[in-house]
Amino acid sequence: MANSADVIIVGSGIGGLTAAALLQEKGFSTLTFEKNRYPGGSCASFRHQGYTFDAGASVFYGFSDEGRSGTLNLHTRIFKKLGVSVPTIPDPVQIHYHLPNDFDVPVYYDRDRFLDVLIRRFPHEESGIQAFYQELEEVYAILSALPAGSLEDPVHIIRVGTANPGKTMALALKTFKSMGKTARKYIADEELLKFIDIESYSWAVQDAVATPLVNAGICLADRHHGGINYPVGGAGAIPDALCEGIRKFGGRIAFGCDVEEILVKDGCAKGVRLSSGEVHTSRAVITNATVWDTFNRLIKDPRYAVSEKKFLRAPSWFQLYLGVDAGVIPEDFYVHHILVDEWDTYDETGGTIYFSAPSVLDPSVAPEGKHVVHAFVTDETDRWSSYERGGSAYKKAKQEFGDRVIRRTERILPGLSDAIDVKVLATPLTNQRYLNRYKGSYGPLLYPGQNVLQKPQNRTAVDNLFAAGDSTFPGQGVIAVTYSGISCASYVARKFGNPLEYV
Ligand SMILES: Cc1cc2nc3c(=O)[nH]c(=O)nc-3n(C[C@H](O)[C@H](O)[C@H](O)COP(=O)(O)OP(=O)(O)OC[C@H]3O[C@@H](n4cnc5c(N)ncnc54)[C@H](O)[C@@H]3O)c2cc1C
Repeated sequence: MANSADVIIVGSGIGGLTAAALLQEKGFSTLTFEKNRYPGGSCASFRHQGYTFDAGASVFYGFSDEGRSGTLNLHTRIFKKLGVSVPTIPDPVQIHYHLPNDFDVPVYYDRDRFLDVLIRRFPHEESGIQAFYQELEEVYAILSALPAGSLEDPVHIIRVGTANPGKTMALALKTFKSMGKTARKYIADEELLKFIDIESYSWAVQDAVATPLVNAGICLADRHHGGINYPVGGAGAIPDALCEGIRKFGGRIAFGCDVEEILVKDGCAKGVRLSSGEVHTSRAVITNATVWDTFNRLIKDPRYAVSEKKFLRAPSWFQLYLGVDAGVIPEDFYVHHILVDEWDTYDETGGTIYFSAPSVLDPSVAPEGKHVVHAFVTDETDRWSSYERGGSAYKKAKQEFGDRVIRRTERILPGLSDAIDVKVLATPLTNQRYLNRYKGSYGPLLYPGQNVLQKPQNRTAVDNLFAAGDSTFPGQGVIAVTYSGISCASYVARKFGNPLEYV
């Protein structure tokens, strides 16, 4: 039987689409199967009653011009290579933190202005603040000078190591460092250390001690170089542009196609079987599903099963998508906010509120006179699994929990409850269903103390089955899974004798 494509990709998250786009542009034929009727997974947008909501991600790195972000401006580079465009709007503030004890910090694009806010609150820690954030700058300086590629590809490692011996060695040493332990070298003030914890929790959902310094060197430094940029029309503009690029070079993306099994014969991936029964074969398969979904559900051979405990499972989310009257949002309101009521509970289920209002930057995502609001807190499927989905008890519990979150956000937006025009609530069960992720989880995390290089790369225990997405190095986040897509495509392309050029 003739293969359906050189490479089949399971899932159209940003990791999967990035890998597909780069391989297709290089001349491999790709076929991507997506269970949903739209691309993007956790980086999709959906439309409801005239509003465009971001399903998950809305803080985006990687869109700067080449001069401002070195090699980390991965979206810009990939879209240029594909010949597609995603207009973006620069965001002056990455996140505005609203913390206990009236501790209020907007993280400005301008690094000095941001550090000034911290130094004004902690004058006794001025030198510690400067030294800690300088360490992040040093990591950033290394990362933004090295091209993205596969750490499993000896040719890439030798090439980059030979061209940049000092930087490569310094980076290797820094992979052993934790963000929180580095902070404690310079800073003693407990409240300031809590701030550093929430800085890592904001994207890693772990405290700073559990977070690798290398990851922090991107998230907490590039925001002051390449900056945060919002794609016009919403998060979905990113997967849409990747799909456009894939199709432009002849690739295929099939929506509404649920891959039920990754076919494995004699330890080698051969293709996929859809829930319709259709079988498609290929030379290689790339899975964009989580490690648990791939090895405990899509691969039927129990010898490949992966214990949930092999990784730390991040929680899922309870999400609120609101359309609100524009009057409730002040003129000088920033897009992204994080609210912590009490330090003791910030990392417990529901403790921290993530909040964004992207229509403040991009009015096209809300009807005239309205704004879009997206708020979410961590949550677990287990808290909801006793309810009959769609039943009245489930709906009531959802409304009550949602109302509690809304009341808490009134601390920064008084009158929000009365300004709501449209309200869509999503529990962890909704996340599990639409994101097709085990327990609706944000994904597997490293255990505290593990080296960032212990995160799985793109090769798997099955020959010719590769992985892209946030179950692989470097982890969660749209720019991180973009990197994983690049490294996955690089490895596959070299293995099949047609290596990629650096993006
Ligand atoms: C609420 C929330 C907020 C976030 N905020 C941010 C943010 O502001 N900034 C940021 O950078 N990151 C953010 N993230 C994280 C970021 O969105 C994710 O880490 C990233 O998008 C994950 O990409 P992925 O490639 O792993 O694929 P996913 O997004 O997990 O997509 C995988 C795709 O594969 C499909 N699929 C799975 N199994 C199958 C199958 N068997 N058959 C067919 N299709 C299948 C799924 O339907 C899905 O479309 C957020 C995530 C969430 C949930």
